[in-house]
Amino acid sequence: HELPHNRTAIVTGAASPRGIGRVVADDLARNGWNVAIIDLDANQAEATARELAARSSTDVRGWGADITDPDAVDRVVADIEKTMPPLVGLANIAGISSPTPYLDLTLPEWIRQIEVNLTGVHIVTQRVVRSMVSHEVGRIVSISSISAQRGGGTFSKTPYSAAKAGLVGFTRSIARELGEHGITANIVSPGPIDTDIMGGPLTEERKAGFVGEQLIKRVGTPEDVAAAITFLMSPRAGFITAENLNVNGGHYMG
Ligand code: NAD
Repeated sequence: HELPHNRTAIVTGAASPRGIGRVVADDLARNGWNVAIIDLDANQAEATARELAARSSTDVRGWGADITDPDAVDRVVADIEKTMPPLVGLANIAGISSPTPYLDLTLPEWIRQIEVNLTGVHIVTQRVVRSMVSHEVGRIVSISSISAQRGGGTFSKTPYSAAKAGLVGFTRSIARELGEHGITANIVSPGPIDTDIMGGPLTEERKAGFVGEQLIKRVGTPEDVAAAITFLMSPRAGFITAENLNVNGGHYMG
């Protein structure tokens, strides 16, 4: 159940230029992982991978797939298994936000939120877990959100909160079933992080509002989230599973 020295992690949603996934991929690569980026656009995923590979001693490569498309995910993961070192890590970062108030929410928006933020995580995880079981070791980390704990109140509303809360039950359940194979599964729950998930940079007013509610008086960064994820995926964290680690500057306790 020890992680092999030469090993690969998939990071989904790592092609966003100011996003969390890109920094997670970079941080994992600096900490000994070969990294396979999966994002919607193949060219963007490959370009991001080339940039990260240029400053890493490990291999970083990119693939295009929609995580809600099981056939596309299967093809890409099979290619990663064939062309990269043992696939024993997965950081589920891809996600979409939902700013619509509940009274205006349409059924298609609800369905797409659950599809990407919950079902997509399941599709990638179930496929990658097959590889982990064959190696009898694995590390899975998925990103939930403070929205799941507080009922929104930051960027995203009801279907996002529901999907992100679903990831907690999902993670605890797979942790229970897969522990015997040396696989850990954990959640990281960030508070508001300064990225472009809402379609552009946060306003200074928005940032000041968040910071006012935090104990640590600065806006959270992708690096703060990456530090938690890299730790939970490290060889040293093999006895930590089914945990939910908050990265929120004390915005929410629980
Ligand atoms: P972002 O929009 O910058 O990045 C999200 C990435 O996911 C993009 O590269 C996008 O192309 C990719 N993606 C979206 N749908 C996909 C799909 N169907 N298949 C493959 N890739 C897909 O967002 P971010 O702020 O970096 O958020 C990353 C994760 O962190 C998300 O899961 C988000 O819900 C979560 N999160 C963010 C914050 C925050 O404040 N930014 C807080 C808590 C949780």
